[in-house]
Amino acid sequence: MDRFFDHKMETMPRRRIKELQIKRLQETVHRVYRNVPYYHKRFKELDITPSDIKSLEDIHRLPFTTKDDLRDNAPFGMLATSLDNCIELHASSGTTGIPVTVCYTWHDINVWSEVMARCLSMSGLTKKDVFQNPIPYGTFTGAFGFHYGAQRIGALVVPSGKGQSERQIHLMEYYGTTFISGVASYALRLGQVAHEIGVDPKKLRVRNGLFGAEMFTHGLKKRIMEMWGMDDVHDIYGLTEMCGPGVSTDCDQHNGLHLWEDHFLVECIDPKTLEPVDVEEEGELVITTLTKEGMPLLRYRTRDIAKIYDTKICECGRTHVKHSPIKGRSDDMIIIRGTNIFPGQIESVLMKNPDVGGNWRMILTTAENNMDMLTVEVESRKKLGKKEKLLLEKKLQNEIKTVIVFTPHVTIVPPNTIPQNGLKAKRVIDHRKK
Ligand SMILES: [Zn+2]
Repeated sequence: MDRFFDHKMETMPRRRIKELQIKRLQETVHRVYRNVPYYHKRFKELDITPSDIKSLEDIHRLPFTTKDDLRDNAPFGMLATSLDNCIELHASSGTTGIPVTVCYTWHDINVWSEVMARCLSMSGLTKKDVFQNPIPYGTFTGAFGFHYGAQRIGALVVPSGKGQSERQIHLMEYYGTTFISGVASYALRLGQVAHEIGVDPKKLRVRNGLFGAEMFTHGLKKRIMEMWGMDDVHDIYGLTEMCGPGVSTDCDQHNGLHLWEDHFLVECIDPKTLEPVDVEEEGELVITTLTKEGMPLLRYRTRDIAKIYDTKICECGRTHVKHSPIKGRSDDMIIIRGTNIFPGQIESVLMKNPDVGGNWRMILTTAENNMDMLTVEVESRKKLGKKEKLLLEKKLQNEIKTVIVFTPHVTIVPPNTIPQNGLKAKRVIDHRKK
């Protein structure tokens, strides 16, 4: 199957990609220097002008942009064009209450549709598919990105929107849905709901899916495929500040996500020293937009931890750089007894175990001796007897210990008893004394 949306661009020789990148980087730098007071001020502070950016290596001279910078200039202070030229806005939720707002021009929406179409094609979506999009339509970017991309390919889009899991299953049956999108943990939840209402997800026509928005371990992928009888599932990455989903996706080789370098320039840095890490070393992804008109961003600190792989031509034929699946957000990294832990590490252990159900969470408390205590609460796949429960707890305890170096408590709870927190799973509950 031809899984390319734009064969020429996706397989462009690396030398040509680099040429395109420097040209577009220079244009972007000129544009923000001219039009965004925030960047103009930062350039002055660093004593640089756009003409100092002569090669891609010079990117290190440019300032970083953080989420706080965006909040300080919210909602429209970072625009590089007049609001009249913008046709849509999206916003990400913020724990502090000030959302990050991103405005799109016609051109920006066009680029977004195109990168999403590449990601969806790479995952196997064709114009023959019935594409169901069970993501809330609203100020969040998710639903619209998938919607535009699937339409660009010519698939039939079922904009089923937010939640109502039973209704989602009925729509799948009624319209013969073949491809679904969304958040990985929600795909698992939908499968469970199907069983609860007497529908075997394997008997539906859904054969493929593209999921993102949270860490997506190999174990979880396998589990979704088994539950739905899917041929394949893919992982998509993106963030509102760049466009939304559509920055990168894993190809059929499943050993990294191709990032669209004609639109995004990616770096990987040590989040403490802010210096670049070596190729294939773990660090924080930092991304510069290369083609955005509405709100171009220089060296945006994503907080997402991953590795950038050495650039070789992938077996799939694509030449764009690959990064590892996101290990976690540097914000999600928790320090327990002096050890850095990402929820994904625990999830990969849990999802390998066939007796583990769909949901789990970590609860942190402080013991009387002031030691950090970690309890991993895990749903079992089916209701277990006392003895089975104890055995599973012991088994998981040992397996988790091997990845986090100390012994956690493990509590098995019955299926569907851990509260679902909206669409996104809340994995960490921290009750520790500060
Ligand atoms: Zn590939």
